[in-house]
Amino acid sequence: KNRINILGTEFDNFTEKQFHLYLDNDLDFKANKFIVTPNPEIVLSARKDANFSKIINNADYVIPDGIGIIKGAKILGTPMHERITGFDTLKYLIEAANRKLLKVYILGSKPEVIEATANKIKKDYPQIDLVGYHDGYFKDEGEIAQEIITKKPNLVLVALGSPKQEIFINKYKDQLNAVWIGVGGSFDVFSG
Ligand code: UDP
Repeated sequence: KNRINILGTEFDNFTEKQFHLYLDNDLDFKANKFIVTPNPEIVLSARKDANFSKIINNADYVIPDGIGIIKGAKILGTPMHERITGFDTLKYLIEAANRKLLKVYILGSKPEVIEATANKIKKDYPQIDLVGYHDGYFKDEGEIAQEIITKKPNLVLVALGSPKQEIFINKYKDQLNAVWIGVGGSFDVFSG
């Protein structure tokens, strides 16, 4: 893979338009993909955490979320196309899932936030089959993972913050062919 290394995190370098074409293809062909969207803060925390760093660098897409990454790449002499935010990626995936009539599972954030996110999806993206949702303050992780796998979503959006969401996805993603993405605090914004 042709990736650009910024302080140990290996980013994909493509335009948002190209990225969206890849995602469309992945959703159409029911590919198993893991998207991470590191910002500068995550790059720094991955430097201090070899396990987290490995999980990020083994993901299928490593997307530069933040102008700091683009500026850093330029300074390091390996310029990148453009910033692609996790939030815009989340919105694109939801729109694509609606267009393609796909099954979606949403996990994480506070109970009232995930409820509001579920309601917004049902109202504004009626062609999505929302197969389930759960807040991010559960006791039995394995039980939640099993529920997701059983419901067979095509798209799994996980908002547990980093590195929790990436550790969760990395652990269970091989049990279900879906597009998996950690979306951090995006539901808080999306539902508001
Ligand atoms: N969160 C969660 N479970 C946890 C910890 C955090 O569901 O055990 C949620 C939190 O409610 C928030 C999201 O994770 O909606 C992202 O948290 P934060 O803003 O700290 O992460 P970041 O966006 O910086 O990755």
